[in-house]
Amino acid sequence: MGHDIIVLGGGPAGLAAAVAARGRGKTVLVIGNPWQDSPLARAERVDNYLGLPGQTGAELVGTFRAHAEELGTDFVTGRAISLMAWNGFMVTVVSQVYDGQALILAPGVVRQAKYPGEAEFLGRGVSYCATCDGMLYRNRPVTVVGRSKDAPLEANYLQSIGCQVTYVSAREPEGLDPAIPWVRAGKLAVKGDQTVTALEADGADLPCAGVFILREAVAPTDLLPDLETEGGFIRVDRRMATNLEGVFAAGDCTGLPLQVAKAVGEGHVAALSACEYLDRKQP
Ligand SMILES: Cc1cc2nc3c(=O)[nH]c(=O)nc-3n(C[C@H](O)[C@H](O)[C@H](O)COP(=O)(O)OP(=O)(O)OC[C@H]3O[C@@H](n4cnc5c(N)ncnc54)[C@H](O)[C@@H]3O)c2cc1C
Repeated sequence: MGHDIIVLGGGPAGLAAAVAARGRGKTVLVIGNPWQDSPLARAERVDNYLGLPGQTGAELVGTFRAHAEELGTDFVTGRAISLMAWNGFMVTVVSQVYDGQALILAPGVVRQAKYPGEAEFLGRGVSYCATCDGMLYRNRPVTVVGRSKDAPLEANYLQSIGCQVTYVSAREPEGLDPAIPWVRAGKLAVKGDQTVTALEADGADLPCAGVFILREAVAPTDLLPDLETEGGFIRVDRRMATNLEGVFAAGDCTGLPLQVAKAVGEGHVAALSACEYLDRKQP
């Protein structure tokens, strides 16, 4: 059975949203990368969060997480790679699909810049989801751009279903099937005509029909192309509602200041708005 609310992102904004929504009796699933890898966990010391000065970032986010767990939040660890609005929302993590009636986006900011050609060929050869699109490239050459820990496994999956995979990354991958050729390259560009024809890697073309770009995070606008943004951040109103029905956003993804207190406050508001939305929809 699905959840009332799916929260994308397990940082301060997502966890605050989970706590508030559980307080209103909603079922909540938080989908997020391992919390130990979250940006806040890298902070040596956080002194400006009300009432809890002097903690490390890892301590603070660990405390937030424990609070959400105690209240009965469900968690899935992994990267959301596709999102579909259909009878609520369906979110894919690796090969599992999770559904919810309202969605709170709290993915932080995606700091990795796009490669030249990436946006232009998205859906015409560029994909972020091996599980969703792999079969389209069976018996055809594809390149996998590995920028996440699980990218070698995704490349192995593509190879196992019959794609002819070349793996491209700046560092030597761990766990890559030895049958898959690895190209070390850092400067990349997607090339094509109507659809993708090659990945340029440090000046050399690797001919291919598909390019799977696997990063730790996927920008929310790549998951929901109709989502409106302003200055690179998700546009929200004071209820933290986006332009899409049933979709709310909170935290760094909505704009400056990029700080914990703002993320937590917005997560709280987004959750209350999502609960209100659900109560109106299913009184
Ligand atoms: C080194 C450092 C020090 C900092 N120090 C301070 C400080 O002292 N005080 C302060 O107030 N702020 C500080 N900040 C900023 C603070 O960390 C952020 O403002 C805050 O973490 C934002 O919370 P968030 O929940 O919006 O996003 P995040 O904390 O970024 O959490 C979002 C989570 O969602 C995950 N995610 C994104 N996309 C996906 C996806 N598709 N699938 C699954 N998971 C996904 C991300 O990997 C991440 O774990 C610091 C940041 C850094 C990097």
